[in-house]
Amino acid sequence: MAGTWIEVDLDAVVGNYREVIKHLHPQARCMAVVKADAYGLGAIEVARALEEEGCEAFAVTRVEEGLFLREHGIEGIILVLGPTMKEEWLQAIEAQLQLSLSEISSISELNDICSNMGQELQQNVKVHIKVETGMGRTGFRISELGELINALRNAPNVEVSGVYTHFARAAQRDQSYTLGQYERFKAFTDQLEEGGIYPTWKHVCNSAAFLDHPEWHHDFVRIGTLLIGHYPGQAFSGRLGLKDPWTAKSQIVHLRKVPKGTNVGYQSLYHTKKETKLAVIPVGYADGFGVAPHFVPQGWLDFLKIVIKNFIALFGIFLGQERVELKGRTVRVAGKIGMQLTVLDVGGQDCMLGDEVIIPLRRTVANARVPRRYRKNGQMLSKRVVKEGILPTCPEYSHLV
Ligand SMILES: *Cc1c(COP(=O)(O)O)cnc(C)c1O
Repeated sequence: MAGTWIEVDLDAVVGNYREVIKHLHPQARCMAVVKADAYGLGAIEVARALEEEGCEAFAVTRVEEGLFLREHGIEGIILVLGPTMKEEWLQAIEAQLQLSLSEISSISELNDICSNMGQELQQNVKVHIKVETGMGRTGFRISELGELINALRNAPNVEVSGVYTHFARAAQRDQSYTLGQYERFKAFTDQLEEGGIYPTWKHVCNSAAFLDHPEWHHDFVRIGTLLIGHYPGQAFSGRLGLKDPWTAKSQIVHLRKVPKGTNVGYQSLYHTKKETKLAVIPVGYADGFGVAPHFVPQGWLDFLKIVIKNFIALFGIFLGQERVELKGRTVRVAGKIGMQLTVLDVGGQDCMLGDEVIIPLRRTVANARVPRRYRKNGQMLSKRVVKEGILPTCPEYSHLV
């Protein structure tokens, strides 16, 4: 296959899962968070590999992601973390997805859907009560407890499988905010139980809290970042034996010797300083290359860093700061990354058409159209393992594999 693709080593993902299990409290289980197509790696492939390894629970953000997992044979618990809409509930219940509950009014409506399903089909809906403790996104506040308990008592088809919260600052060194969140969670669950509602499971830990607070593992820990081989912050680096399963690759599809002073790319932002070779690789920002989420500076020091960086860039010093790896050597991107093409200044390095280049393509922004190739049990699989070999949300994918 020519062009640009991503190699995902499922053996590394499984290895990372084993590392998590090693450090897990004996009473707890790992819920693999495979939202956003498993952070870009491929939700089906990752969930399958982990289910084979004994993982019993998965989490996604949206109902459609959960349905997608079910359609592809994932049998374990699937929790939908995000808020859901009425229109999705019947399908979600039929697929036995477990839903996060953040609104009182949903309770009676969910109950009605279940009781209207007809006797043969009838089943309960399993929900996890989401508690708002400081993320400021979704969930119940302690002031709503009375109303919540009442509504649940009047909804026999709504089964409370879990209660959970999500930490906003668990990766920070200063844990006071996180401790406050945990306190509020504890107060909430205590009162919930005093009100006669006993959720089967409690869970609070994401990757960072899992590493720092073994005493909070409860029944599940919800792990995403560690499974994909990343640490939630630099301070955590090396705490587990993680392996990075992700390698994005492109190929040289054009190569030309050029003289000194050649202008490269849009706005001619790059000029060759001496005679050199330029190589073109078929990847660009439409694939997610050179694209990063918008970060808001955290404090004055951070702001100053950004200002200085931009100031230096004005003089062309940092332009083409993206770097790729060609035969073990670092090579600069020359000029602006294009929509689907990028130019490299390969200098005197020995290379030819078809040579592979490793590119820093961010997992969560890598376009789903970029083909993924999977390695499992040491062997390369030919293409995505999804049914029909294509992602349903992405019809244009088929001609790329
Ligand atoms: C994404 C997410 C997680 C996983 O967090 P990581 O830090 O990637 O492990 C856990 N819980 C919720 C609610 C999430 O949205």
